[in-house]
Amino acid sequence: MNHDSPKIPQATAKRLPLYYRFIQNLHSSGKQRVSSAELSEAVKVDSATIRRDFSYFGALGKKGYGYNVSYLLSFFRKTLDQDEITNVALIGVGNLGTAFLNYNFMKNNNTKIQIAFDVDEEKVGTVIGDVPIYHLDELEERLDLKEVPVAILTVPSSAAQGITDRLAEAQIKGILNFTPARLNVPPTIRVHHIDLAVELQSLVYFLKNYPDASDEK
Ligand code: ATP
Repeated sequence: MNHDSPKIPQATAKRLPLYYRFIQNLHSSGKQRVSSAELSEAVKVDSATIRRDFSYFGALGKKGYGYNVSYLLSFFRKTLDQDEITNVALIGVGNLGTAFLNYNFMKNNNTKIQIAFDVDEEKVGTVIGDVPIYHLDELEERLDLKEVPVAILTVPSSAAQGITDRLAEAQIKGILNFTPARLNVPPTIRVHHIDLAVELQSLVYFLKNYPDASDEK
């Protein structure tokens, strides 16, 4: 996030990439303005929240006109540092890790996996989707953390905490944890946890118990 940008609430900041992606699509389809109602429908955030979010960064929509798409796009690009790519390391090149290396987030994003680690000798020394895979023994040596502030963890959960401790020691700034393990980290490190099995179970639970999604509101 750009340090010169005004302080915006965390909940708003979390929605910015969502808005950004949609605005990018609008821009490339040649649309010049968008209403908060259209945005709301597309990103599934209610329009009052969108208006409040946008007011934090000075984008004040006009009644009957909506928001200027080019203005929004340049704001998001600046705020999300889209011109500056954040390098990411991936640890654990199994099924999930391999899929991420092949996908590599570049289409809509400002992040790129630059380097991967594994312990499997068959994988070490190979390259997947342009990303070289090194042995985990070389983690500290290879991670120039000025270049790589973020790590994605797709290892078995039993290995997650040990690797996290090493990443913490090497002063990584953020970890995207795809393992079911709950990680202990110093307060200077931000961990976002995505447990796909739990998310899926939770979706199934809600479908069973609240079949009409509008009941929740
Ligand atoms: P997934 O679909 O979760 O990626 P998988 O069945 O392909 O799983 P896992 O056993 O979950 O494989 O392991 C994921 C990857 O993590 C494998 O490539 C494995 O070699 C690697 N791995 C296992 N232990 C470690 C470790 N301590 N450090 C780094 N990589 C590890």
